[in-house]
Amino acid sequence: MAERPKLKPSIRIGIDLGGTKTEIIALDDSGQVLHRRRVPTPVGDYRSTLATIARLIDEAEKSLGICASVGIGMPGALSLDSGCVKNANSTVLNGKPFKEDLQALLKRAIRLENDANCFALSEAQDGAGHGSASVFGVILGTGVGAGWVINGKLILGAAHIAGEWGHNPLPSIAQLGLHSARERQLSALEAPGPACYCGRWGCVETWLSGPGFVADYARDEYAAEAGDAPNIDTPAVDALALDAQQLITRMRGGELRAVAAFDRYVDRLARALATVINIADPDVIILGGGMSRIPELADRVSSALAAYVFSDEIGTKILSNQHGDSSGVRGAAWLWNQS
Ligand SMILES: [Zn+2]
Repeated sequence: MAERPKLKPSIRIGIDLGGTKTEIIALDDSGQVLHRRRVPTPVGDYRSTLATIARLIDEAEKSLGICASVGIGMPGALSLDSGCVKNANSTVLNGKPFKEDLQALLKRAIRLENDANCFALSEAQDGAGHGSASVFGVILGTGVGAGWVINGKLILGAAHIAGEWGHNPLPSIAQLGLHSARERQLSALEAPGPACYCGRWGCVETWLSGPGFVADYARDEYAAEAGDAPNIDTPAVDALALDAQQLITRMRGGELRAVAAFDRYVDRLARALATVINIADPDVIILGGGMSRIPELADRVSSALAAYVFSDEIGTKILSNQHGDSSGVRGAAWLWNQS
């Protein structure tokens, strides 16, 4: 029988389980990447998802000749009651004892956190938040979420929902940008706002996700074409065949409706982050997810905060992330840096 590889607790494996791809990374104590691989996620197949993760870990440990700690970043969270997954947009995981099943398969204790918490932890550990005591990491992607790290430790909260700011209602009311009748009409759509998948209306996510940004532009575009007032239920966003990055390209080209949509996006993000600052007053807020690839976003939002934060001084820096798409998988590995 082959000798069991030596346990090297200083090597940390992270897995980022995404909707379409699953990534593995192995980090040494200084955060250097020793191994990394990315494969498609078996969509809609729970057993294959477990097997894919186990195979990736087995391959990594064989190639490095070690047995490492394992942290998993995933959408959703574990229910305090049942220990099963809830709120995952990879719905095949919901209601499954994912952690328990993986621990049985891997024959060791693992740690598991939602992807926004992993993002915040990664950036606090050795990214844009390195050296800051209180780091609030925000994901602005297909979904909107956040994690909060104080002195290197994730703040989980009494029901493990700390940082779930994407499903607060968007704070009304805009203090800026209501200079035209159309802007006032578009702003009036914020209450109650669009239906969110979570069952509520007007969540921050419905405005500040990438699809939310495009939908806001589409309402203006369709209303202009129809010669009508904008409608919250404009259904045919997909018919525009436009994603957030393409919309930003239009903005850079000076297209007026795209410029106005980005101005509204910045103002809404400032409003939503001002509520975070008024409660948590973190040292830094770090932007992640697809929308954070807009280089000017952090500076534009910083300037827009003054209208909404309850202070004439703002100590919170708004920064872009350092680790980009790797933040989630790196943060999963760093879950074993937590006591
Ligand atoms: Zn929601």
